[in-house]
Amino acid sequence: MRGCLDAYGYAEIRTPMFEDTELFVRGVGTGTDIVAKEMYTFNDRKGRSLTLRPEGTAPVVRAWLENNLGAEPGVCRLQYLGPMFRYDRPQAGRYREFFQVGGEAIGSAVPELDVEIIDVMMTMLGELGLRDLAVEINSVGHPGCRAVYERTLAAALVVTADELCDTCRERARTNPLRVFDCKSPSCRRVIERLPLLRDSLCADCKAHHAAVLAGLDALGISYRENPRLVRGLDYYTRTAFEVHYPPLGAQSALGGGGRYDGLVEACGGPPTPAVGFSSGIERVLVALESQPATAGAPRIWIAPLGDAARRQALVLARDLRRVATTEVDLSSRALKAQLRSADRAGARIAVLLGDAELDARAATVRDLRSGEQIQAPWPEVAAAAARLLAATDGKAT
Ligand code: AMP
Repeated sequence: MRGCLDAYGYAEIRTPMFEDTELFVRGVGTGTDIVAKEMYTFNDRKGRSLTLRPEGTAPVVRAWLENNLGAEPGVCRLQYLGPMFRYDRPQAGRYREFFQVGGEAIGSAVPELDVEIIDVMMTMLGELGLRDLAVEINSVGHPGCRAVYERTLAAALVVTADELCDTCRERARTNPLRVFDCKSPSCRRVIERLPLLRDSLCADCKAHHAAVLAGLDALGISYRENPRLVRGLDYYTRTAFEVHYPPLGAQSALGGGGRYDGLVEACGGPPTPAVGFSSGIERVLVALESQPATAGAPRIWIAPLGDAARRQALVLARDLRRVATTEVDLSSRALKAQLRSADRAGARIAVLLGDAELDARAATVRDLRSGEQIQAPWPEVAAAAARLLAATDGKAT
């Protein structure tokens, strides 16, 4: 994990295991589960309130400010790895002391930095051997559009107050967005009917979100838009995302992150845009252990015809492996035989490379279930395969 973050230029930072309680209250937000219920807080000998860090972003921002790391122009990229503490009901995949690895990129508002953060996290998990990861993404807007939305939301929650749990009735008054964190079945039913934040986004936030999605498409990272994803921390602005490993069930989140353009200012610094991710290491280990034996089975099958096509197939395979496990058929058989093997191996997508494709410097990307197919130029083959896979995965669930 460290090596992967190194390769993207994220330098290591180590922050202390505890901080002033105020940092998390201000940074993470009073209405959040973390601050309201999950912090290990104690007084030191002088009566100062300290808290074992429940997350890594606010401490990194505090250290960035104190050490004047913003003096260097450009984006400051930092990685951390260490224990976090949350007073939570211990259960499989949820511990009171757990480890997180994370990356923070401080100093730019461009959507490509959001894309880089998602890319580094996906590459890191991919290099560990995890496949079939599901990225969920949403935009929670900037404080301006969120204020508009919170008024709409608060009004909708008044009408449905009878169906809400006690905590959510309180949240409706104090921090309505946090209702989306609730797991209670009756609140979940209400959440399904609530107005969506994306309908209140301003033009700039909409454009930012569209640019992030376009950047993910260009990298061939498949994702699902989840308009109800808010994440349990107040500091997020615009992009919020989570990466899940669906076979893990209830605790399937391997990590998440997003943009936090207001956090540096909330911690006493100058307005500074930033974006980051964190991933739970124990959760990643559980995912690795639970991978079915078929995890190595190819989802993408490249079927080349002829010597030149086989050479090009190896080139395309490098891109495609960033999307899903990919096998190149090097049996030198007719197309029909190659496609039969693809089928037997359980592949979802076939990438066909014949003479016509070579002439066009393109490949035919075929969904083996629906038969739907498109021709994509070589640099766009991975993105096309990712889109088809996302579409078939969507139908399967
Ligand atoms: P969060 O920022 O709360 O979404 O946490 C990021 C990731 O850390 C989660 O997706 C989990 O993988 C992991 N995580 C959070 N809380 C715990 C916990 N109590 N025990 C183990 N892992 C956790």
